[in-house]
Amino acid sequence: MKSIAVFCGSSDGTDSKIKSEAYQLGKTFGEQNITLVYGAAKIGIMGEVARGVMDKEGDVLGIIPGFLETKEIVHPNLSELIVTNNMHERKVIMYEKSDGFIVLPGGFGTMDEFFEVTTWGQLGLHVKPIGILNINGFFDHLLAYCKTMVERGFLKQDNLDAVVVDNTIDGLLEKMNNYKPLPAPNWLNKDRL
Ligand code: AMP
Repeated sequence: MKSIAVFCGSSDGTDSKIKSEAYQLGKTFGEQNITLVYGAAKIGIMGEVARGVMDKEGDVLGIIPGFLETKEIVHPNLSELIVTNNMHERKVIMYEKSDGFIVLPGGFGTMDEFFEVTTWGQLGLHVKPIGILNINGFFDHLLAYCKTMVERGFLKQDNLDAVVVDNTIDGLLEKMNNYKPLPAPNWLNKDRL
């Protein structure tokens, strides 16, 4: 993977371990020459990941819709900034520019991005790995909820298993590097993908 999109909170949260792991993830990207693709902000957990990459002089591509682009939010030291017309365009460009996706703790915005990119994966619209970095059990309840979806017949176990989860950065990157995509569902018109 040459570039990875990170979805994470625009807030700091209350757990200092989450902030330090986000920073560490950024440093790892810098050390492994992985370009960070993210929402361009200097605030919250987003800003921590970017700071980690920048401290290692790595590449950071920020993508932000025009209505969010203010000096208070946009990181001043990005390698590249793309300003889009709206949130939808931003997400499509983030997905296109990345070889994989990592989800860190966050709020609704993070969940929106996570669920959209997993949905696109289960429809066969992309075959890129999606990883959850489960820092201090932050995602335990979400994963339990996903298990309920499987048990009650709303989600296929294979589609849940396609999301890789680990509580360490190295473990997560290794699983993502070894990821084997599921075949596209056979009911899809593959000529139109
Ligand atoms: P949230 O988890 O609700 O804090 O939202 C964070 C996610 O939504 C990020 O991955 C961003 O892509 C997007 N986002 C939400 N708020 C902002 C913001 N103020 N600046 C930049 N991106 C944001």
